[in-house]
Order: sequence, then structure tokens, then C-alpha cells
Amino acid sequence: MNNNNYPTRSPAEYENRVKTIVPLLKNVLEMLGEDVEREGLIKTPERWAKALLDYTKGMEQDPKQHLQVIFKLDEENYPNDAQDMIIVHNIQFTSTCEHHLAPFRGTAHIAYIPNPESKKITGLSKLSRVVELFAKRLQVQERMTQQITKAIDDYLNPAGVIAVTQATHYCMVQRGVEQTSTSTTSTSRRGVFLTKPELEGKFQDYLRIELDNAKF
Ligand SMILES: [Zn+2]
Repeated sequence: MNNNNYPTRSPAEYENRVKTIVPLLKNVLEMLGEDVEREGLIKTPERWAKALLDYTKGMEQDPKQHLQVIFKLDEENYPNDAQDMIIVHNIQFTSTCEHHLAPFRGTAHIAYIPNPESKKITGLSKLSRVVELFAKRLQVQERMTQQITKAIDDYLNPAGVIAVTQATHYCMVQRGVEQTSTSTTSTSRRGVFLTKPELEGKFQDYLRIELDNAKF
């Protein structure tokens, strides 16, 4: 999708989409052998249509809105050779697998090292909003993880950024393909995280400290 092309969904457009989708979903239920007029199902196509639009609302949102630079590190406290990381761990997300339209849910851990020249930083909550935005699309986990680091790279231009996501895929769980405890891990690295593997080791050490602290 073109980054400059994010149509906004007006209330009228939203209603129009719901109206168009409802009869199609009714059809799907009928094809499953259901009686769409029975009490439990009478409003299901409409609920389902609204849920689908909610699961995919990130398709029309630009990550730029969450990645405005809100402040810069000051010169004195941030030497040019600094490699200090800003880490946000355990960002929970629920996304939709594009192959089966089933949910996959899990956590994302992100770290970036501010650019020593521009010293740009964003708010910590903005990183979880970026995860949420990409999760609310039809996705594959690997692509979502790449999109997260690309957006941070594009708008904050850090020295480096890394994201790790771990998720359980319900298309597998529900169909019995895999055990329910199995999770899938994806990683994406940019900038100095590609050239200095020791930084990733540090990142993992920090995540372990966070996990240990979480026990208390
Ligand atoms: Zn799937």
C-alpha cells in the first residue's frame, strides 16, 4: 500500500460498507447449512461485518500519525557514540491471519537506538500504537514484524531498531494442526542491529531482566 494513500473512513462510508457486507455474510452462513433467521443468528451478519471492519481498521491508518517526534535528547547527556536502547517490551496485540481470517495473538518487544545526529525520540506509548495499527490488518506475522521496524526506521530514523514478536495462531490451534502451547517467533532488525550482533545480545539480556522482574 502506498504510504501517502490512506483514505479516511467516514461514518456514512462505514454504514455503507456494513450494509453491503451483511447480505454476503448471510450467504456464507447459509452455505454452511445454517438457518439465518433463527434467533441466535439474526443479527450475526451485522455483528460479523462490524467486527471485520474493526479487525482491519489499521489498513486505513498511517503509522506517521503515531511517530511524530515528541522530543530530542539533549546534546550534553547523549554523546555521539552512545548506543543506549529505548525498549518497550510486552506489547500485547491481536491480529488476523490473512490466510484463514483467524486471529493470532501475542506480544511484541521493540528496541531502538536514537540517531546520534538527530537524537529523535517518540513517546513510549506510540510504539504500542504502531503495533496495534499494523495488527489491525489482514496479516502474516513476519510481515507485521517487518512493517513495525520499517515505520520506526522511516519516521524516527534511529541508529538501529529491532522488533521481536511471539504469537499463537488460532488457525492452527482451532484446526488441531498444532498444540495450543506452540507459539511462533518473528524478528526484524535494521541499522546497527544488522551490523553489531552484540547489541541484540544486550537487548535479549534486558528482556530477561524484565521477565525476571515480572515474577515479583
Ligand atoms: Zn492462518
